[in-house]
Amino acid sequence: MTGLPPTPTDYLISVLVDLLNTPSPTGFAQRAIDLTQAALQPFTGLKLSQTRKGALVAEWPGVRSDAPRALTAHVDTLGAMVKEVKTNGRLRLSKIGGYAWNTVEGEGCSVFTRGGETQRGALLLTKASVHVFGKQVRELGREDENMEVRLDARTTSAEETRALGIQVGDFVAFDPRVEINNGFVRSRHLDDKACVACLLAAVKALCDAGLQPAQKTYLHISNYEEVGHGAAAGIPAEATELVVVDMAAVGEGQTSDEFHASLCVKDSGGPYHHGLSQRLRDLAEAHAIPYRVDIYPEYGSDGEAFWRAGGDVAVALIGPGVDASHNYERTHLEALLATVQWIVAYVVGE
Ligand SMILES: [Zn+2]
Repeated sequence: MTGLPPTPTDYLISVLVDLLNTPSPTGFAQRAIDLTQAALQPFTGLKLSQTRKGALVAEWPGVRSDAPRALTAHVDTLGAMVKEVKTNGRLRLSKIGGYAWNTVEGEGCSVFTRGGETQRGALLLTKASVHVFGKQVRELGREDENMEVRLDARTTSAEETRALGIQVGDFVAFDPRVEINNGFVRSRHLDDKACVACLLAAVKALCDAGLQPAQKTYLHISNYEEVGHGAAAGIPAEATELVVVDMAAVGEGQTSDEFHASLCVKDSGGPYHHGLSQRLRDLAEAHAIPYRVDIYPEYGSDGEAFWRAGGDVAVALIGPGVDASHNYERTHLEALLATVQWIVAYVVGE
């Protein structure tokens, strides 16, 4: 990577771990929004505000302002809500976002009560013990009605569970289980906290180097992406371009991997803006940023949310390769550093 200010790697990792450990299922992302706002506060050149919908917007003055730009990444994550307090005292859940129950089976979770308390528990199959249910443990469909939260509290009835303060509609967050080994970051919800951390690291890299964006630049931290309408609101109307920073889908048949940043040229919502995508490729090549070009067949982004809402901007999508997305995810520092450098190159580029 050449010709760009160095990436503050320790800062990137520490802000990422803080974000990952801050529960923020869609609809309950305020803590992660506030954490991001607090992290941006020291960069006094940025003007910070929250939209009525709860997204964070940072306005970053540029050398010019005749063609303002925007970047977005989301802090909301997959999660669940309490759908029913069952007669056995356990909880039936309703999913938030698109994932399969088997990806969180056996995972620890937190239930956030209306009274502001947190109750701990784990998501299990309703027939969980192999010593009791034998082959049913293997064969039972991972459907809503076959999954339940076992609370770490003495309860065997709906009344006892309600007495803990738990109600229908309480948010549930699954444990991220963050680990960093040999440069690999393994955690739930790297989608898309990895990219929020990359945006923050890019801001710090530029501010530390005393550099300013080429154009007035808006950062939009979305809080409703996982349900499909995050950036439908909150991107300022004067923005001419929107670069979405979101994870790249890694797997069989994909070019993306955990050591590159990817440019997504097409996903389930169709092609992204060709001209802006070409410019991002040119920037990556000019700065020797390790990148791939890919198509994500089962994927949608906040860029499309803005387009569908009528946003008249060029939209492109970049981000680090994330293995096992919407599952127990993993990426590598190399992909994160490539993403930060790409953001920096775009922000300072003409
Ligand atoms: Zn995402």
